[in-house]
Amino acid sequence: MTSASPVGPLSPYPSFEDVIAQSAEFGAVFETGTSVQGRPLVGIDVGGDGPLVTVTAGLHGIEYIGVQVALAVLRRGAIPGVRLVVFPVLNPDGYARTLADKGQGRVRDMRKNANGVDLNRNFPLPWNARPSRLPFSGGSDPDSATFRGSAPLAEPESQALANWMSEHRPHASINCHSFMGSLIAARVWQRDDWRGYTTLCRSFRDGQAGKARYLRLATPLFDVFTGELEDWQHHALQCWSVCVESFTLGESLRQHMRAPTPFWRFNPREPAAIAERDAVGVRAALLTASKLPRPTRRAPALLTRDVW
Ligand SMILES: [Zn+2]
Repeated sequence: MTSASPVGPLSPYPSFEDVIAQSAEFGAVFETGTSVQGRPLVGIDVGGDGPLVTVTAGLHGIEYIGVQVALAVLRRGAIPGVRLVVFPVLNPDGYARTLADKGQGRVRDMRKNANGVDLNRNFPLPWNARPSRLPFSGGSDPDSATFRGSAPLAEPESQALANWMSEHRPHASINCHSFMGSLIAARVWQRDDWRGYTTLCRSFRDGQAGKARYLRLATPLFDVFTGELEDWQHHALQCWSVCVESFTLGESLRQHMRAPTPFWRFNPREPAAIAERDAVGVRAALLTASKLPRPTRRAPALLTRDVW
């Protein structure tokens, strides 16, 4: 992982093309659409019998460790009792931009899509939600790192994913991000939904090998984000949905102090063990979720344009 690496400036992390080539070994490849710059939006159908569950990654271009977690999930093969579909890189332009910038660009440019939209703020808001003005919540300023876009699902990447998800309606989804080691479930107001997520998060942590114990960020104080994929999946699709922020707080902070570029604040130098550890947790949580009844719809589905 020095500049002498023959593999690339962000070695051991691979290029977008290499991620797709590696992923294709583990299932049937399909495309849901193309990105702003024309890159394919790829899913891998691993197959299996049982409720459909999904793993998504790479919605934020710079968060390469999440993509490694998705690859580690794939390498372990099918999950008995469910049908598994993995989307390894949902923002391929951001991923490619990060590599082209050698991880030295501005975080906002490497995080967002090629239109400058934070794709994980571009989903319709859940019932009862209001856009927050707090930092990172999903802003209306195009220069912000969390610019939510002109309208929900206005970006080709979010639109393609929402179309596929609406058609196939997964029972559960784990969405892989970075960093600071935490679990962020969809924001819910009902006690049995809350309990379901408690069960899922416990299952993730029990599955994680080693000492990592990701915290669940679950109070409105912390979960101020709006327009997230998790909230939309839960409230529009009745899908159990959790965002996993890989790479523990301790690991992140230790590396943060010496990170020579923004990229190395978000991604561990040695991703293999962390990706393996988290992949086990992801698979355990999905299997647990598949055995829960779906969340029940109790409210008008969505408020969108009137509060965008
Ligand atoms: Zn992220």
